[in-house]
Amino acid sequence: MRILVVEDERKVASFIKRGLEEERYTVETAPDGDEGLRLAQNNVFDAIVLDVMLPKLDGYSVLRQLRAAGNATPVLMLTARGTTEDRVQGLDLGADDYLSKPFHFEELAARLRSILRRSTPEKTTKLVCGELTLDMVTHMAYRDGKEIELTTKEYALLEFLMRNKERILSRSMITQHVWKHNFDPESNIIDVYIKRLRQKIERPDKPQMVQSIRGVGYRLKEEE
Ligand code: CA
Repeated sequence: MRILVVEDERKVASFIKRGLEEERYTVETAPDGDEGLRLAQNNVFDAIVLDVMLPKLDGYSVLRQLRAAGNATPVLMLTARGTTEDRVQGLDLGADDYLSKPFHFEELAARLRSILRRSTPEKTTKLVCGELTLDMVTHMAYRDGKEIELTTKEYALLEFLMRNKERILSRSMITQHVWKHNFDPESNIIDVYIKRLRQKIERPDKPQMVQSIRGVGYRLKEEE
């Protein structure tokens, strides 16, 4: 899931970004309202964390313009002032929830999960491939209803494979998406991760799910 964080205080922005990345979200940040609005209008995000007091364009104006343009991305407002009018104004403009500063990261994460759950129909928060299910809100993976324990990178790799099941993914597509930068093409890191993932998601008595495509990359195959 992709989250946009619009926050001008660099410390707060990086604290939120780090925390959300640990929870396996993909995070983009914007340091002012103009940039936040531009990013929100030109990209698809699953939710936006929007500070109220921002340089160039305040959070209320960003929200007003987004909603006026028909953008329904869920928005969690961050308000420094805890007055009722502030909260009501945000909610009236179409914010999905608000959080007063200072806050604990756990509360932000919980509120975000809650607005994501409300805004996304059940089927689009889950990816299914054969006996495998991935819940993109809780970031848990299951095989036949049983939880599979995955590291953050293993999860990102599996989500990418499941979003693109039956499709051949080249090694560079996988590195760019999962690791966000290019590795030395000779590096075997993908193979190491694929091997670990196979051990966790596959069963010896069932056909292989992650297929190697010689000289190209990998494909996740739905079991018959
Ligand atoms: Ca601010």
